[in-house]
Amino acid sequence: MLYPDLFGKDPLFPKHSDFAVVFKDEVAGRGVITYRALAKGEIVARMAGYVVHEIRQHTLQLTPETHLYDPYFSGFFLHSCAPNISLNMADLIVVALRDIPANSFLYMDYAETEDVLFKQFPCSCGASNCRGWITGRKELLSGEIMQSEYLHSGRALR
Ligand SMILES: [Zn+2]
Repeated sequence: MLYPDLFGKDPLFPKHSDFAVVFKDEVAGRGVITYRALAKGEIVARMAGYVVHEIRQHTLQLTPETHLYDPYFSGFFLHSCAPNISLNMADLIVVALRDIPANSFLYMDYAETEDVLFKQFPCSCGASNCRGWITGRKELLSGEIMQSEYLHSGRALR
């Protein structure tokens, strides 16, 4: 198990034989790799960690006021605008969004769980729908703020 014993012995916890936190490159830093091929829709693993009340590096949002600090596994998921996993933060379950070959990095979309990111960053995921600049789901790009103010003002209605 990647998690220490104090979190219990959930059979869905990630095992060292299946997953590892490994260095990817200077830009991305560390990520989580799966040694096992995963099928679309499959439960990848269950997450665990410490509940904290502030956003840190390696936290995932549980509720607007609480965050899961997981320095063993899920805190190292890399971002992609075309993710291969989805996180259910209510049940702490990671699900495969597509078939994932063995020895692949696991990629989530940070905007799926986070209202606000610890740090916004430029994305180089290479997806055709790459957003270019990654923010939390409640942090708007300046262009989006302008557009939404424009719409709310009624000036867009002709
Ligand atoms: Zn991207």
